[in-house]
Amino acid sequence: MSTIFSKIIAKEIPADIVYEDELALAFRDIAPQAPVHILIIPKKEIPTANDVADGDEATLGRLFTVAAKIARDEGIAENGYRLIVNCNEHGGQEVFHLHMHLLGGRRLGPMLARKLASEDG
Ligand code: AMP
Repeated sequence: MSTIFSKIIAKEIPADIVYEDELALAFRDIAPQAPVHILIIPKKEIPTANDVADGDEATLGRLFTVAAKIARDEGIAENGYRLIVNCNEHGGQEVFHLHMHLLGGRRLGPMLARKLASEDG
């Protein structure tokens, strides 16, 4: 099923696009969680990390080379940044078009938020 990201790829809705090639598109997150928060997505509709296949390896590798290029362009490569791919409910995935978050521009703290007392899993 297509998502809002397919509409961004098709330029049917606007986005602050920072990079585009034949395999990938990158644009600024609409609700940034850090000074730099960019989403890097394959143009191919891959819903989740569970759906990647052998034939997607070039596309998925491209997400990393694009991330490294954008990090340099944004001036955050040396200090560092974090790349995140969320999958399904426990991963907190909200848009079911696989995407890599590139976050940086400040210290990002620990990998995961401290577990809430109400959480059991
Ligand atoms: P995830 O929780 O990993 O599925 O992340 C989805 C991300 O997409 C969130 O960080 C949203 O803020 C972001 N997002 C949703 N709609 C848009 C949009 N139209 N343009 C840019 N980012 C968006």
